[in-house]
Amino acid sequence: MELYSTNNPSLKVDFPTAVFNSMPQDKGLYMPQEIPVLDPEFIAQIGDRTFSEIALKVASALIGDAIPTPDLKAIIAETLSFDAPVKELDAETYVLELFHGPSLAFKDFGARFMSRVMGYFLRENEKMLDVLVATSGDTGGAVALGFLGVPNTRVTILYPEGKVSEIQELQLCTNGNNIQAISVNGTFDDCQALVKQAFADQDLADKLRLTSANSINIARLIPQTFYYFNAYAQLAREGKTKVVFAVPSGNFGNIAAGLIAYKMGLPVQQFIAATNANDTVPRFLENGIYETRASVQTYSNAMDVGAPSNWVRIMDLFKGDVAALKKVVSSSSYTDVETQEAIKEIYDTYSYVACPHTAIAYRALKNYLAEQPDHELTGVFLSTAHPCKFPDVFPNDVAAAIAIPEQVNELRARTSAAQKMDPVFADFKTYLQELN
Ligand SMILES: *Cc1c(COP(=O)(O)O)cnc(C)c1O
Repeated sequence: MELYSTNNPSLKVDFPTAVFNSMPQDKGLYMPQEIPVLDPEFIAQIGDRTFSEIALKVASALIGDAIPTPDLKAIIAETLSFDAPVKELDAETYVLELFHGPSLAFKDFGARFMSRVMGYFLRENEKMLDVLVATSGDTGGAVALGFLGVPNTRVTILYPEGKVSEIQELQLCTNGNNIQAISVNGTFDDCQALVKQAFADQDLADKLRLTSANSINIARLIPQTFYYFNAYAQLAREGKTKVVFAVPSGNFGNIAAGLIAYKMGLPVQQFIAATNANDTVPRFLENGIYETRASVQTYSNAMDVGAPSNWVRIMDLFKGDVAALKKVVSSSSYTDVETQEAIKEIYDTYSYVACPHTAIAYRALKNYLAEQPDHELTGVFLSTAHPCKFPDVFPNDVAAAIAIPEQVNELRARTSAAQKMDPVFADFKTYLQELN
């Protein structure tokens, strides 16, 4: 597999380089040299395949010989240790549940695959890999649980003290083993600044092999294509093949993966990028001006992104042709009030509890379907997290209906430990230098 930088198509690297660097030096993003198109026969018969079979076919096509098939198969088996069911709410409305993994959010797919791919490439390289992550909540849990127990890796997670939910904090702080959490007396931006400084520090670079596990890593995107194919397979079994996906979007990694699946031949009618008040992309599709803004805080805080990092990948997939892009992707933005109304509507109509991110995708899907003359469309909104991770958003009756998953009770039974730190780089540096 060869990849290029979106800022410089002649800069080419192999898969391990892209995985360990995350980002090219020129600050572009890595994209596969070629998006392989799967044979139409495979798509026509996809309902006969299991999730793992589909994932192996898709991953092999994308990765080529970078990882031999038996090893890739093992990585996929470990990645997909949980299911991604499509559930029917009514004849035209389905929800793709992506929250059955260890951190109860879709980021588990990316984190589990990336950690195991890194672990695989590290087999030949004895030096310990130190993963540094700053998190406002969801990413940290997925990365922690993704790397837990992966040989030759060690993870340090920084999170803002008192600013993540109880369950998120448990996911960060109860792992032990090769995972260490630091609770920073400051904001998420302080955490991110500490991590950035660590990457720029020459003493640390000489001593440690540092990597970031952030959402722009190509190894996080690849496994996210799997569940689009698998969702389509589940619907194809019911004879539904005119599918629309609504994706709750922040950094636009999830929907970028869907669009890669589309370019690989998955016959999707439309993608809807649903955002909260952070509406850089809907504004761009409306007026053609791409203007990033500082992020604003909302109930769907994992989507509070003013400058979506994966947008350049989407533009690259469409070779900058905005008209072609707009035929496949539409986008709309919703306020916190609309989010709460959507949560209530889903609960009242279907007795289903959706997290705030998921509720925005539901709203966008329903609004889109209502405008379509074609009544044979099947709408699927992606559910990116389990509602129990965001307890403060729900009215009491809805909150009471949330079934707490087994994983959470297991976490509550464990000891929680985090090192406390002020947002002072010298302290963080000392901490890293003393790792052994
Ligand atoms: C990360 C996240 C999103 C946004 O996904 P992107 O790939 O950044 O667009 C949406 N919902 C939840 C729950 C998340 O954790």
